[in-house]
Amino acid sequence: MYTHHSLLLTPGPTPIPLQIQTAMNLPMVGHRSAEFERIAAKAFSTLKTVFGTSNDVIILTSSGTSALEASMRNLLNFDDHFVVIVSGAFGNRYKQIAETYYKNIHVFNVEWGQSFNTADVLQFIQSINHPITAVFTQYCETSTAVLHPVAELGRALKTFDDNIFFVVDGVSCIGAVDVDMSRDNIDVLVSGSQKALMLPPGLAFVAYNDRAYTRFNEINSPSFYLNLSKHRMSLEKHTTPFTPNVPAFRGIVAYGDMIDEEGFQNVIHRHYIIRDAVRHALRSLELELLVSDASASPTVTAFVPRNTDEVQHIKNTLSKVFNITIAGGQGQLKGHILRVGHMGFISPFDLLPFIASLEIILTNYRNQSYIGKGTTTFMEVIHNEL
Ligand SMILES: *Cc1c(COP(=O)(O)O)cnc(C)c1O
Repeated sequence: MYTHHSLLLTPGPTPIPLQIQTAMNLPMVGHRSAEFERIAAKAFSTLKTVFGTSNDVIILTSSGTSALEASMRNLLNFDDHFVVIVSGAFGNRYKQIAETYYKNIHVFNVEWGQSFNTADVLQFIQSINHPITAVFTQYCETSTAVLHPVAELGRALKTFDDNIFFVVDGVSCIGAVDVDMSRDNIDVLVSGSQKALMLPPGLAFVAYNDRAYTRFNEINSPSFYLNLSKHRMSLEKHTTPFTPNVPAFRGIVAYGDMIDEEGFQNVIHRHYIIRDAVRHALRSLELELLVSDASASPTVTAFVPRNTDEVQHIKNTLSKVFNITIAGGQGQLKGHILRVGHMGFISPFDLLPFIASLEIILTNYRNQSYIGKGTTTFMEVIHNEL
C-alpha cells in the first residue's frame, strides 16, 4: 500500500546483492572447462574464511538438507551409536535423517527456545552404554532462533573422548558468526547457500577437518551423489563429480569479494548490532522474546505476540499492507511465534521499515499508541553500538 519495494525478512531465502546477481548472470560456461576450473578453485577456497577452516570447502548442488544427510552418511557405519541433539525443527530433521538409515540413535532433547547445557549433554553421553561415534547439533536452531554454545560443547567433547566426531549444522548462521573449526573442535561443519551467505537456494556446503576426511574414506555405509570422498577428489582437481550450478559458483566468488571488502569481522559485528537493536525494539513494543539474551542468534529473532490472533494479524498485515515478509513458527511453535530474519545482505536500516510497520500495526490492533517507540529504541542501540 505505502511501499513499492518488497522486503524479505525470512530466515532463508534472504535478499541477494546486485553484485552476486550480476555475477550469476554472466554467460554460461561448460563445467568441464578451464574457465569453470578457475571459478571453482576460487569458490572452494573463498568459503574457508567463513567456515573457519584450512581445507577447501566441498560444494554440493543441492539444498542444505543434503549436507546434513551427507554428514551422517559419510561418518557413520550402520551399527554405530551416536547422539542427535534436538532443540527444534531442524534438530528433528537430523533425527529423521538418522532414522532413515540407522538404528542406534540417542536423542538428547532440549526444550524449544533454550540452548543446550553442555554439562547435561555430557552427562547424557556418559549414561549411554556404548562408545559414541558422533554428536550432531545445530549451531543456530532456526526454528527457535537459538544460537547454541557449540565451541563450549566442542571443547567438552574433546576432553571427554577425542574419538567422537562433532558435527555442526550451521546452515542459518555461517557467514555471520565467528567460528574456527580447529579452535572450536568441530570436525564437520555444514551450511547452505540461501541464508547468511546471501546466495540463491540450491547449494550445500561441507567443511571438514583431516580426521573427518580420513573417516569419509573408511566407513562402509555407501552413498552415491553424497559420497564426500568423491567430491573431495574432484575438488582437488578444481571441479565437481557431477554438473554443478555454474552460476551459483560464480555467485560464491562474488560473495567472497564482498566480504573481503567489508572485512569478515565487520560482517559479524553488523549482524550482532542488528540483533541487539531488533531485540530492544521488540521489547519496547511489548512483544515478548522467545530466547534469552545469552542464547539469541545474530541471524534470526523469534518473538511471541499476545495470542494466536495477534500472530496472524501481524504477519498478514506486514505482508498485505507493508510488503514485508517474515516467518511464522514451525512444529510445536506454529501459530505461537513469529520470526524475523536479519542475515546476509542486510544493514541496520533495512530493519527500520519492519519496526515502523509494527508500531502502526500494534497501535491499531491494541488500541494504544506505539508510534516512535520501537524505532527510537532501535536507533539508540544502533547509535551506541556502531
Ligand atoms: C534452512 C536450514 C536447513 C535446511 O535447508 P534446506 O536448504 O531447506 O534443505 C537445515 N538446517 C538449518 C539450521 C536451517 O536453517
